[in-house]
Amino acid sequence: MSEASSGSAAPKRLGVIGDPVAHSISPAMQQPALDALGINARYERWHTTAGELPARIASLRGNDMLGANVTVPHKQWVMSLVDEVSPLAQSAGAVNTIVNQGGRLLGDNTDVYGFSTSLLEICPDAASRAAVLLGAGGAARAVVLALREAGVREITIVNRNLARAEMLRDDLGVDLVVADSPDAALPAAGILINATSLGWHAGEMPLAVSLLDLLGSDALVVDLTYRDTDLLDAARDRGLATLDGLGMLVHQGARAFERFTGQPAPLDVMWSAALAARAPRS
Ligand code: NDP
Repeated sequence: MSEASSGSAAPKRLGVIGDPVAHSISPAMQQPALDALGINARYERWHTTAGELPARIASLRGNDMLGANVTVPHKQWVMSLVDEVSPLAQSAGAVNTIVNQGGRLLGDNTDVYGFSTSLLEICPDAASRAAVLLGAGGAARAVVLALREAGVREITIVNRNLARAEMLRDDLGVDLVVADSPDAALPAAGILINATSLGWHAGEMPLAVSLLDLLGSDALVVDLTYRDTDLLDAARDRGLATLDGLGMLVHQGARAFERFTGQPAPLDVMWSAALAARAPRS
């Protein structure tokens, strides 16, 4: 029996690092998963300002630490604070999972896996579809890598700040179209993805709702927001298939759990916990 699963030893610790972290679903999802496998560990919420970040990351080297999830706004900066960054996290330009390997910190990215797993569950033929991606922030980077991994060859990226979309394309070294409007690409798009921050509040739409009428009837509309949004409502009104961001959240968490514990994640436990914990729509 490993030390982490021994009932008599002091509990191991792990947690989520961010600012803010009060809203994070990770504790509600990870603790029941640890408990379900009888792993003696406590998952905590570590509110950490930018000034506190170096000390927080250094604390992860302790014997009692398994690692941490990292959320906004620290996913980029922590890359320079860990000992090693995985090739995938390097490509994504973001670390969302830090694993303590005997005092040595490995930074990894599980958002890419989370998105591709969630997408392929509902859209196994993704490789044969073209995609339109709204947004060019950290989440959009993970989505582009996941779409590439899934075999999607045509990606059009649309962002308010065009230069940021061009930077994403150049950084990732992938062949994608940068456009200032989705209009031209939507008729051929089999997947429309919202990776902007717009969606959490009623009335927020990442594109003019009438543009949804340009999509084919078999198109899938994805919103990284992990609950229902006006975009998903409008897509369903038009008879389109939809996917929210909860699956991405659960699968990235499951992959992180496996990195922390070395054990297969109890996906059903994590799904139920995430469903119960996600905030109601505002
Ligand atoms: P970032 O801050 O890195 O990027 C935000 C993006 O939203 C940018 O493209 C920005 O455009 C765009 N944006 C913000 N406000 C507006 C606006 N008023 N009009 C048009 N575009 C706007 O955020 P992330 O990439 O980290 O997160 C994006 C979304 O994805 C969030 O809702 C987040 O909750 C969600 N997410 C979900 C995950 C999951 O597991 N389901 C995982 C990670 C993120 P510009 O560049 O022009 O400012």
